[in-house]
Order: sequence, then structure tokens, then C-alpha cells
Amino acid sequence: MNLETGALAGDRGKLDEFDLIASVFAPLTDGDERALGLLDDAAVLPQAAGRDTVITTDTMVEGIHFLDAEPPDVIARRLLRVNLSDLASMGAEPAAYVLNLTLPARTNKEWLSLFAEGLRVDQSAFGVRLLGGDTTHTKRSLTVTATLLGEVPTHGAITRGGARAGDDIYVSGTIGDASLGLKMLISGADNQDALVKRFQLPEPRVSLGAKLRGLATAMADVSDGLAADLVHICRASKVSAIVYTDSIPLSVDVQTSLAAGNTDMGEILSGGDDYELVFTASPDTAGRIAAASQSAEVPITHIGRISGGASEVIVLGPDGREIKLETTGYRHF
Ligand code: ADP
Ligand code: MG
Repeated sequence: MNLETGALAGDRGKLDEFDLIASVFAPLTDGDERALGLLDDAAVLPQAAGRDTVITTDTMVEGIHFLDAEPPDVIARRLLRVNLSDLASMGAEPAAYVLNLTLPARTNKEWLSLFAEGLRVDQSAFGVRLLGGDTTHTKRSLTVTATLLGEVPTHGAITRGGARAGDDIYVSGTIGDASLGLKMLISGADNQDALVKRFQLPEPRVSLGAKLRGLATAMADVSDGLAADLVHICRASKVSAIVYTDSIPLSVDVQTSLAAGNTDMGEILSGGDDYELVFTASPDTAGRIAAASQSAEVPITHIGRISGGASEVIVLGPDGREIKLETTGYRHF
């Protein structure tokens, strides 16, 4: 806590930093010994033998990564989920997190309690606990950062660099929902809409990601857009990818929008925020990949093939002709 910037002004009076930590954050440790009750200067994590720690962090800024009017519990859950998706894409099992909050003066205890409720729901759902953090103040936009820790067996993390020519390319779930949801949210749709929900509360594919250890040769989560995230895999692996548009899995809602001319394949392939997993695997492991999808209860779809060449993503339409994408990823408001 940054003492020189003073306490928060709330409608229930001044919010004392020790009170805030004790009443809002400490309960989220679930009494985990590693957090030392949030009474010390840092958390202490014993090192498990035969395990690697996977660390990821993501920051969300009001007005850039979420709209100003977004409910605090949705901001909290989305913050955890986008980070959990990064762990999923490494094949890691989530373990714990730390939280950095930069709060404008208007933030009151009610806002923080709702934010903490959101954290509570998703930390329980995904099996992580709060181990520490920092709280500071700003005259500008609300900014929230979570740092997630995950675990894999030693050298078991799935990186972007292992795709080989001849590998199959798969994607989980459906693609294009979140970017359509975001468009609808900006144009005033409410959060009862299924596509808006897909944007606000993405489903990190944690269980599928872990089951793909030893099977997927490369993996990324779809945060920038399917085409852009595949480019990341291609660059890291020094290969190219051929993707067939008529094999891209689309929800009924996206199919309806497509038929109505409200979106097109280019937008679907370059829209971000779906937080699905895109991964590559040798054709020899197709049966085991299908079994992993079944046991994780997450559908996967074969969308193309890795070839040699210069780190390109080639998108082929139903007529076999190449479709040039205008952009490979547009995300912010
Ligand atoms: P210091 O001044 O030593 O950095 P702080 O007052 O920042 O101490 O933090 C005291 C304790 O409260 C630490 O254990 C820290 O991890 C925890 N803490 C502070 N802010 C948060 C937060 N936003 N979320 C979780 N824990 C927090
Ligand atoms: Mg501090």
C-alpha cells in the first residue's frame, strides 16, 4: 500500500489500508499458509520436487480492456480467466495468484467487495488462492493486474515452438463469439446476450490444456485472434499453417450473424478474446487427442495442417482459393 497517496475516499468513510487487506483480501487466501495471512512482506512457496512453476501476468485498464461501466465482479472474473487461459495454453495446472490494484479515488468499499466476490467465485471454480499483492492509487484509470502461478511436471510445459510440418491443427470450442459480443456490448447490448457473455466471461480451457501435455506439439490461447495466434505458433516453430475456413467451428449465433451479413470470415478469424486453445499435434496421436477432448468435455475441431515454409498462415476458402485477411488482430476499445 502506498501511504503517501492517502486512503481511499468511499461513501462509507475512509478506507484504511490494513482494514482493506484484512477484510477484503485476507479471506481470499482461504487460510493458505503460504500467504502468511497477508501480514508479512511477501508470500513463501515451498518448491515441489519434479515440478516446474509456470508464471503469467496480465493487466487490464479501464477504457482499454474493459468498458467503464463494467460490473466489478465481471472485471475480477475476467482478469482471473484471461490469466488462467495463459496457464491452460502452457498445459499448466493453476496453483495461486497475486493481485495488483491501482484504484482511482472514487473506488469505495462496496466496489471492492463486489470485486472480491467475483474473485471468490472463480478462484473456487478454478482452484487458485490469493497469496499477496499490492494496492496503489491513481488520478487516472482503474488498472488491475493478476499474476498467476501454475505447475507442470519438469519440462512438461507446452510451448509455441514445437509444431512440425505434417502436424494437424486443432482449435477448441467455437471461434468469433467474443469479438461479436464485444461489438454488441459497445453498441449497447446487455449482458444477458450469449455472445456478450462469451466476451465478458471467457471459459479458460484449463482441464483440456493439462490433458494435452505430451500430445500437443505447440499450443497458444486465442486472445489476439485465431489467425494472429496461429502466426505466433508458426513464427516460434518456423513453419507455416494452412487453415480451411469451412472447418472453423462456429456457434449458432455466429452462423446466424454470418448468414445475415453482420460479420464475415475475415472478422471471425481476426477477432480476439475467445480464449480457446489452438494447438498442433502429430497425426499419429489423433486418437489420444480425441480422448483428451472427451475427458475434458471440451469439443475440438481439426482446422488445418502445418507445412514447411516461411511462418505464414494461409487461409483457404470453400472453393480452395486463398482468402487474404485485412488485419490479423484488433482488440482494444
Ligand atoms: P509493503 O508495504 O510491505 O509492500 P503492503 O502494505 O503493500 O506491504 O502489503 C501488506 C500485505 O498485504 C502483503 O502481504 C501484501 O501481499 C498484501 N496485499 C496488499 N495489497 C494486496 C492486494 N491488492 N491483494 C492481495 N494482497 C495484497
Ligand atoms: Mg506493497
